[in-house]
Amino acid sequence: MPALQRLARPFCSARTWIALGVLAPVGMLAASGLMLLDLRQDAWDKAEQTSKNLLQVMERDIGRNIEMYDLSIQAAADNLRAPGVAEANPQMRQLILFDRAATARDMGVMLVIDEHGDTIADIDAVPPRKGNAADREYFQVHKARAGLGLYVGRPIVSRLTGERMLPFTRRINKPDGTFGGVVLGSVKLSYFTHLFERINLGRNDAINLYLRDGTRVMRQPYVEADLGANIASAAIFKNFVREHSGSFIETSVRDGMERHYTFTQIGDLPLILNVALSTDEIEAEWRVKALVIGGIVLVLCSLTIALSLLFGRELRRREAMQGELERLSLTDALTHLPNRRAFEDTGARAWEGARRNGQPLSLLIVDADHFKRFNDRYGHQVGDEVLQGLARRLSAGVHRPDDLVCRVGGEEFAILLPDTDQAGALRIAEKVHAEVATLAIGSPGIGAGAVTVSIGLAAMVSGGTEVSALADLYRLADAALYEAKAGGRNQTHCAGQPCVPEIPPRLKLVSAS
Ligand code: GH3
Ligand code: MG
Ligand code: MG
Repeated sequence: MPALQRLARPFCSARTWIALGVLAPVGMLAASGLMLLDLRQDAWDKAEQTSKNLLQVMERDIGRNIEMYDLSIQAAADNLRAPGVAEANPQMRQLILFDRAATARDMGVMLVIDEHGDTIADIDAVPPRKGNAADREYFQVHKARAGLGLYVGRPIVSRLTGERMLPFTRRINKPDGTFGGVVLGSVKLSYFTHLFERINLGRNDAINLYLRDGTRVMRQPYVEADLGANIASAAIFKNFVREHSGSFIETSVRDGMERHYTFTQIGDLPLILNVALSTDEIEAEWRVKALVIGGIVLVLCSLTIALSLLFGRELRRREAMQGELERLSLTDALTHLPNRRAFEDTGARAWEGARRNGQPLSLLIVDADHFKRFNDRYGHQVGDEVLQGLARRLSAGVHRPDDLVCRVGGEEFAILLPDTDQAGALRIAEKVHAEVATLAIGSPGIGAGAVTVSIGLAAMVSGGTEVSALADLYRLADAALYEAKAGGRNQTHCAGQPCVPEIPPRLKLVSAS
């Protein structure tokens, strides 16, 4: 049980409760903070993974389709060199040239164009639809340079169908190596629109397809004006061309919105595909969670702190009240001197200290002479005033911090004098008589010298046998007091022996009437 009590003691202290009440919420806040950071990281990881998966699927789809178209373009270019093709009638020639050509919903036109830019074969028409491509960028690029392989041109509007297309071309070389025209296979931009539309994007997210020269081929969400724009000079684009694939956070040049970009080049083609997720939206779900969890934790922490502070304040109040009660229980209400209980507590400690250290200890019991008469003559209230005055005078008679003046009974006081022998105590008694002689109470006209006291003195000397407890000392002093009364009052008597020096007899109580 004592061990339990010792364990429980800190929890009775206001300071412990305040410290716990503050530390616990701080711990709770730290744990919730870590948890929220972890959730935020999860949101980012999920976004990055989703972007990568989307890119992979789209890249595979686009790459496979373009590869298929390229095979068709290459086949047409190869078949041109087949014997008899030049001489064959247009129907036959169309069949030979495009026999391996892939057809698909999003396949645009497929044409064979001669060195003058005129269409000489058309996958969709015999005879071929008329048209001249000499002014087209892809035509001029191939004309100027041999060995380009598959060339991906800037988006164009087909003059045959009026649709937007991305042109893929290969050069036709004549037997002597000179420019003989191009085979054009184009992919409708709607292919990309359809592909991107299948992906469920957030309001501020985007998918972009760029040519390596910075030209935007397609953007989802689709806005006509975005197509063909060139962002080659923007810092963001430099990130796209620096590596084959990767991710980074950057502010969009288009709308100034911060996004997380995951990008990849499509195979070996000069095409760059990216998925751009708004950083705001990546964190949106997390932010709601953070707000709810953070709010709840904050409210709980505030409540805990407030309750702990209240509890601590209540404990403090009770501690203070207990202290005050303790003080009151040891204090005499009339004179504000320590009372008999305080005298017994302090006296027992003083007596024990004196015994242990072999020091003397003296006790004076001071009793007002004929005090009853003051009450009878002036009333109880004046009697009280006299007692209060006596208390002040007695306190003025001692000077050491350890000297203790108490009211032990009605008009009876005790003065405990540690480390004081009989001679010293006698000097104090003398001083007390002198102080009391100056006591005067103005209102009823009690003048100086009207109040006297008798004092019984007992001293404990080291090695003495008479005194084995404070009560013995008290009894001896009381007996000496009795003698002082019997000897005519207003004097001091020492226990067991005559007082040295002898105290001259004092004035008797002088009646005020
Ligand atoms: P003696 O010289 O023999 O001591 O005579 P005394 O009259 O002082 O002693 P006694 O014991 O006959 O009377 C003490 C009186 O002190 C009785 C009581 O009415 C009074 N007294 C005790 N306590 C108080 C108090 O708190 N206030 C007042 N006014 N009087 C008190
Ligand atoms: Mg008395
Ligand atoms: Mg008395």
